[in-house]
Amino acid sequence: MRRRLLLSDIEGIRDRLYKKRYVTHDDHWIWLGAENLQGYGLMTVEGKQLLVTRLSLYISGIEFDIFNNNIWALHKNSCHKRLCFNPAHLYSGNRGNNMSDYSIYKQTELFPCGHPKDPKYTVVTMSNGYIRYRCRECYALYMKSWHEKNKS
Ligand SMILES: [Zn+2]
Ligand SMILES: [Zn+2]
Repeated sequence: MRRRLLLSDIEGIRDRLYKKRYVTHDDHWIWLGAENLQGYGLMTVEGKQLLVTRLSLYISGIEFDIFNNNIWALHKNSCHKRLCFNPAHLYSGNRGNNMSDYSIYKQTELFPCGHPKDPKYTVVTMSNGYIRYRCRECYALYMKSWHEKNKS
């Protein structure tokens, strides 16, 4: 049986991270281990599943408070790979500045519904801690029907 890995064991965490790391030619560190439903890498430390992006920033020497769940390890604009845990591609931020999601939002001109992704037509919502960019018009209709359904 594998010994229980502790958060204080920086070398042990680094060892285990590097064992499941695939480095791409453009220097993304792709996690080959477990993933969560959103497609981010997970590793078990002290019996808890933690995000490898958090662990990677934590051991990198870049200032990062792993105990504060309001502080996130976010991907920089230059890296949209959720499984990448290269600390040079990450930064520590709060939920309000998830630029990575914003850059994904910016990749196309139109929402799936066909409405333009103009700031005027965009509403920003938070669900399960994730920032979502939605079509304002369609979201308003959706909310209206939701309220009507729940009135009766
Ligand atoms: Zn990367
Ligand atoms: Zn729409």
